[in-house]
Amino acid sequence: MTQKFEIEMLPVLDTNYAIFVKCRTTGKVAMVDAPDDDKIFAFLEQKQWRPSLVLVTHRHWDHVDGLEKVKDRYNPLIVVPEAEKDQISPHNETISPGAILPFGAGHFTVLSTPGHTSGHIAYYLQEQPTLFAGDALFSIGCGRMFDGPADAMWEGLKELRRLPDETTLYCGHEYTRDNVNFALSLTPEHQALRQHLQWVEERRAQNQPTLPSTLGFEKANNPFLRADDPEVAKAVGQHGAPKAEVFAAIRKAKDQF
Ligand SMILES: [Zn+2]
Repeated sequence: MTQKFEIEMLPVLDTNYAIFVKCRTTGKVAMVDAPDDDKIFAFLEQKQWRPSLVLVTHRHWDHVDGLEKVKDRYNPLIVVPEAEKDQISPHNETISPGAILPFGAGHFTVLSTPGHTSGHIAYYLQEQPTLFAGDALFSIGCGRMFDGPADAMWEGLKELRRLPDETTLYCGHEYTRDNVNFALSLTPEHQALRQHLQWVEERRAQNQPTLPSTLGFEKANNPFLRADDPEVAKAVGQHGAPKAEVFAAIRKAKDQF
């Protein structure tokens, strides 16, 4: 069955992904974040797509530096997190967690995912369960905690964890190999991760992406979504500690990995 939305992911800059969503019913095109990379225009021209909507996840340069050029060329509606509006330009509209944004024959729900930056948000496409997580969640990892605090970041990840297992996960970076190696350093006997590492190595050797993932896979295997699993807590020496502290310890261990 053809899906209602066509989703394309383009590797840009060093490790970023630019992501495009086309509504097959209306022909409308949205993009998630706007890295500054001419590959984006080459891609859009080749597809003959003109974005009418840009969904920004957070203020970091590698997600917003292309906004000016995208605006000049396509003049889309640029939606940015209300909490980071002063640091992101240009933009037309601000949005906060809980909002529902119509797009073509569907809707995006805005989710609160603070921690990487304090105003970071993620977008969930309801009609074709898909999460655009920006730098809040990566495959087998999560974003570095620049702003924190750890308890808010953990709450945001728990909100993502409540999405259905079949949800397709797109995120802002290709970091999977590093993430899987780190996860295996915590739980070396985790068979699914061992197998996954092999697949990831093969994909990367051929310069192929390891994304998208699914939330079902991430819930079972991503240590940052498993801070309340005693096995992971024990691995970072936090057995029985409050979950947000376990999460902070996993994040710190990854920073030092
Ligand atoms: Zn970032």
